[in-house]
Amino acid sequence: MITIILDKCKGCNICVKNCPLEAIEVVDKKAYTNENCVACGICVRVCPFDAIEKDSKQSSDALSCTNCPVSCAIAPGKTGACARYVNDRNEIIRNRKLVVDSLTKKSNEKLPYKPIITAVGSGSTYPCCRPAPAIVQEKVDDVDVVTVVTEAPLSYSGVKVKIDTNMHIGEEGAKVKRDGKVVGMVTTEEYGSKMLTVGGANLLSNGNDGFIVAKTIVDLANSRKVTLKVEDGSTLELQQGQLPVIDGKTDTLMRVGCGSAAIGLFATHMSKVAQEAIILDYHVIGLLSEHFAGGEVGMQYSGVTPNGVKSTRGRYFGKQGHGWGGTDITDPVDAVADVDMNIAKPGYKILVTETTGQKAAVLEVQSDGSVKEILMPEDVKEVTNIMAQTCEQSSVSVIYTGGTGGSARAGVSSMPRKLTEAIHNDEVLMTLGGAPAFVLPGGGINFMVDVGKMVPDATTWVPTPATVAPVEYTMTRKKYDEIGGHKGHIMTREELNKKFNLGE
Ligand code: SF4
Ligand code: SF4
Repeated sequence: MITIILDKCKGCNICVKNCPLEAIEVVDKKAYTNENCVACGICVRVCPFDAIEKDSKQSSDALSCTNCPVSCAIAPGKTGACARYVNDRNEIIRNRKLVVDSLTKKSNEKLPYKPIITAVGSGSTYPCCRPAPAIVQEKVDDVDVVTVVTEAPLSYSGVKVKIDTNMHIGEEGAKVKRDGKVVGMVTTEEYGSKMLTVGGANLLSNGNDGFIVAKTIVDLANSRKVTLKVEDGSTLELQQGQLPVIDGKTDTLMRVGCGSAAIGLFATHMSKVAQEAIILDYHVIGLLSEHFAGGEVGMQYSGVTPNGVKSTRGRYFGKQGHGWGGTDITDPVDAVADVDMNIAKPGYKILVTETTGQKAAVLEVQSDGSVKEILMPEDVKEVTNIMAQTCEQSSVSVIYTGGTGGSARAGVSSMPRKLTEAIHNDEVLMTLGGAPAFVLPGGGINFMVDVGKMVPDATTWVPTPATVAPVEYTMTRKKYDEIGGHKGHIMTREELNKKFNLGE
């Protein structure tokens, strides 16, 4: 049971924010638990004033769940902290039906490409000596195939988040926070995307902040909207499969390439409507008339110098920032550093745009070498429209990453190393929520999976803290015997239906 020491409670709401079950509320600056409380102990651990205590007493009608080390005390009709187990008429049961069909359709010659059943709703096996919840055998194309499924608590997990945007979100290596707690970091920029890593073994086991890390991984993996703040950088609203929102602005288009590549792609169009084009891009700023592509379409150097440090012909490095194309330029006039009037002529038109064509302006060269913005002519607008139409839609993509060890392997076989070897040899197909996993080379079973291909809402978390992932291993019956599988626990489809109450 949970006891609040009211004298010590300051009503700071930290316990309320961290409780997974809305089982605690603050009234008149004092915290009180309600009937949803399962004594999971998260609030005890996060309270900065030691105002919450847990004792061994338990209400008489609550049942202790044994599906993970947290041992929630679940009252009738209530749910455990992981939201997976419920006390249903004095029995602890998984509250989601086993999902049998995966989304994956593709077939594979050596093995069936999809598992016989998914692990979503199958439940966990804890402690490790228990065989997996379902080990099911069926004939697929005249071959005896076995799929072993378990919802595995993984303390070694995280997500990679790919954000398709040109916008500058913060420095590489910057911490990423949720509600002030560190949940990950900005890792790299690759092609037209920024990459975040959220979670990982160290942050999950980072004292009491691990809870919010686990919750964030699962929220992202289950396509829920999450707001994150990059230290000294942007506020990000991220949701799997949706447009990214950065500092309140929705980014819609993904660039086709850097400023130099955009010059190459659109030189023919741009050369017909302007004497110069500057493509602002956080990676490389392109200058049309000086670029090889400008020469290729018959242009002469215009005398314009863009605002950046020259790299090679027609390619300049700018400064990263919150301006156009992820540079620090917020006024298109600032894209021009100098105009050499020995080469340029008054009236020259300079197109300044982002690679996506979303922000664009036309500058006109004045007789004194200065430039001023003019109304965009229709033909120039048409070129920027062509650039925009060439872009793909931006998106947020979440890749669940983890490693299966411990009970996640012991439930499958008595010889876990043989299972690892068979996975690396492509003799065992590993899937998560029905989606194929990419298994990283080297030792162990480290994997990555596109959550967009998994059964929706497939992951959960437990307050150990760890995320819970639905893992399936599919192989021939012969291979299952060879790797020391739990032969005595193999069930037929009929037995599976009976065990999981699936009907016919
Ligand atoms: S013990 Fe767990 S369920 Fe109960 S109030 Fe605290 S955090 Fe919520
Ligand atoms: S958190 Fe653990 S103990 Fe609590 S209901 Fe879930 S599996 Fe059971």
